[in-house]
Amino acid sequence: MASRNQNRPPRSPNAKKEGLGGIPFDKRRKVETQGTGRRQAFSAVNKQDVTMNSDVGSIEECGKVEFSKDEVLALLSERAKAGKFDTKAKIEQMTDIIKRLKVCVKWFQQTDETHLQEKESLKVSLESAEQKYNIKELEARTKEEELQATISNLKENVVSLHEKLAKEESSKQARDAIECHRREKDSRVAAEKVQASLGEELDKVKEEKMAAKQKVASLEDMYKRLQEYNTSLQQYNSKLQTDLETVRAALTRAEKEKSSILENLSTLRGHSKSLQDQLASSRVLQDDAIKQKDSLLSEVTNIRNELQQVRDDRDRQVVQSQKLAQEIGKYQENVGKSSQELDILIAKSGSLEETCSLQKERINMLEQQLAIASERQKMADASVSLTRTEFEEQKHLLCELQDRLADMEHQLCEAELLRKKLHNTILELKGNIRVFCRVRPLLPDDGGRHEATVIAYPTSTEARGRGVDLVQSGNKHPFTFDKVFNHEASQEEVFFEISQLVQSALDGYKVCIFAYGQTGSGKTYTMMGRPETPEQKGLIPRSLEQIFQASQSLGAQGWKYKMQVSMLEIYNETIRDLLSTNRTTSMELVRADSGTSGKQYTITHDVNGHTHVSDLTIFDVCSIGKISSLLQQAAQSRSVGKTQMNEQSSRSHFVFTMRISGVNESTEQQVQGVLNLIDLAGSERLSKSGATGDRLKETQAINKSLSALSDVIFALAKKEDHVPFRNSKLTYLLQPCLGGDSKTLMFVNISPDPSSAGESLCSLRFAARVNACEIGIPRRQTSTKLLDSRLSYG
Ligand code: ADP
Ligand code: MG
Repeated sequence: MASRNQNRPPRSPNAKKEGLGGIPFDKRRKVETQGTGRRQAFSAVNKQDVTMNSDVGSIEECGKVEFSKDEVLALLSERAKAGKFDTKAKIEQMTDIIKRLKVCVKWFQQTDETHLQEKESLKVSLESAEQKYNIKELEARTKEEELQATISNLKENVVSLHEKLAKEESSKQARDAIECHRREKDSRVAAEKVQASLGEELDKVKEEKMAAKQKVASLEDMYKRLQEYNTSLQQYNSKLQTDLETVRAALTRAEKEKSSILENLSTLRGHSKSLQDQLASSRVLQDDAIKQKDSLLSEVTNIRNELQQVRDDRDRQVVQSQKLAQEIGKYQENVGKSSQELDILIAKSGSLEETCSLQKERINMLEQQLAIASERQKMADASVSLTRTEFEEQKHLLCELQDRLADMEHQLCEAELLRKKLHNTILELKGNIRVFCRVRPLLPDDGGRHEATVIAYPTSTEARGRGVDLVQSGNKHPFTFDKVFNHEASQEEVFFEISQLVQSALDGYKVCIFAYGQTGSGKTYTMMGRPETPEQKGLIPRSLEQIFQASQSLGAQGWKYKMQVSMLEIYNETIRDLLSTNRTTSMELVRADSGTSGKQYTITHDVNGHTHVSDLTIFDVCSIGKISSLLQQAAQSRSVGKTQMNEQSSRSHFVFTMRISGVNESTEQQVQGVLNLIDLAGSERLSKSGATGDRLKETQAINKSLSALSDVIFALAKKEDHVPFRNSKLTYLLQPCLGGDSKTLMFVNISPDPSSAGESLCSLRFAARVNACEIGIPRRQTSTKLLDSRLSYG
């Protein structure tokens, strides 16, 4: 718009009113006529004395002439009045008419120019009106935008006020908020005032717009009139043209000299054409102006609508602000109440602050403690991780150690097997039947105290510990055995030598240890000892101790042992159960002797080489204490016999049997060993005892059984087909334990008493014969089958 204004020459705002814009065309023309004073009516010109010689320029010089429509038509219809042959007069008349026509054309041209100028001025005024309208429109828009911005700000303020009011309900800052709200309200009122002034301005703009509209209407009227005028001019022009053509035709027909007139006429045509073009362009411009007017009208209606909306919004805002004011009043009341509450709350908060400060101090302390604890925890975590790694290492080590342990156990098992094998080999090399000689010390009761010593021990390196010499009637009888224990040998030393045999019983072999010798030579002492004094314990308790200890230590290798014990004596070829709860009375013994005892104690052997004695009491033992009580019981039984049966203990064979069955769960190996410890009856000869009757019978039975034993040993040594086991109860009882895979040891007990020298010589000779025997390679009895829980005898 500014550029448009700049491109055009400045024009005063009253130009339209003062100029041609506000005055009707006809009036304006009169004013001009009056103003100039030079223009004359055509009729006046016609009335003037226009000579035939005067040219067009003279007419022009007499001032501006106006033509009315009728005058022009009269001029066009005017014809030469001279006579048909008066060519000169006719030409003069024609020249006059042409002159007048020229004046008319000139006037027309001048009129057209004034029309054009008026059109231009109208255009300019229209553009200026448009510019003004646009400026006003812009101003209105900017004002509207400002109003909208202020309204939106007010809305935001109202929203923020709402929020603040909500917040201030619970706080003492409500008063400030209310102040703020008041200020906001004032600003809103000011904005409303501004809005009102803007509305007034808008009304003014509207009025101006109305004036512009009126102007546009007047311009439109003027355009219409111009159009009508133009159309009439066109019609007039067309008529003039036709007239001109006719005149030209007349002129061409009349004279070729009048070509100048024709030329003028052609220029007139060109002018009329340009006029037509200008008219067309003015029409297009008019259409554009109409379109712009329509668009402006529509925009005005839009602006009106928007203004109405703005007004509605403003009304609503006013209503809301009134409501808010009411609410503020309520809030103020509430604030009054809440201020009282606030005082109370302030008092409370003071106390709370005190507690808070206390709590803060405590929290600080706790935080410090927490920091210390967290540091400790970190350290503990580090130590835990260390411990974990150590634990993992230890675990790994433990696994390795367990593997190694398993290996070691396996190796140990194999080593144990090897040991058993080697042990057995050693015993085999030593001989399966061995003879140990033990000479008891001289007792105070012995008679030959003051006599020469009859027992001597050779000192040669060859016979040391193995040889014994008996001197009788000046004759020296040297004997050699597997081992000779002199009178100084302790029970421990003696047991040390037989402990290997006890181990063999644990390894699953059948072992028999006999004590042979005359009564009082120390057989019972060797076998049982004196249980009341630990050092003088005999072979039986020591063997049992070893067996229990060894079974416990072998338990680590997976061996589990079960021990069964039985004790019996064979008196006069009769078996007596020493562990029976029903003690055998003398009557029973008599009946037993006559073979009418209630209990038969029948000996049987099964195919597996196990011996069974019917009715015999067998005890499962699992501790040395139990064994001790059983041994006491057996000793009492024997002692009963001793008192009643006159030194019966020396007249019977005492047989202690322990059956050892071992199972290795890991190797599924089973062993079954038997340990027989036999305290034989006294071997003294009949002649010496001088017995008769029952005594003789006893002695005969003893001698028979002892000779049967020697017969069996010798038969086994000679590998005879028939071994007379059945010749005595003792040999039959011990059949599986003699020969074959069994191991036999015989103690020959010797009394140093010179009065016993003869009996000692007999014992030594018997022992020497036994010592010369080889019974055979013992076979270990092992099996992988589970054995009968009740072990067989032997
Ligand atoms: P046996 O059983 O052969 O008839 P004993 O064993 O009863 O003989 O012994 C007779 C006596 O000799 C007992 O009083 C016993 O204490 C004692 N006696 C036997 N051997 C020894 C020994 N090696 N040391 C000490 N005393 C013994
Ligand atoms: Mg005895």
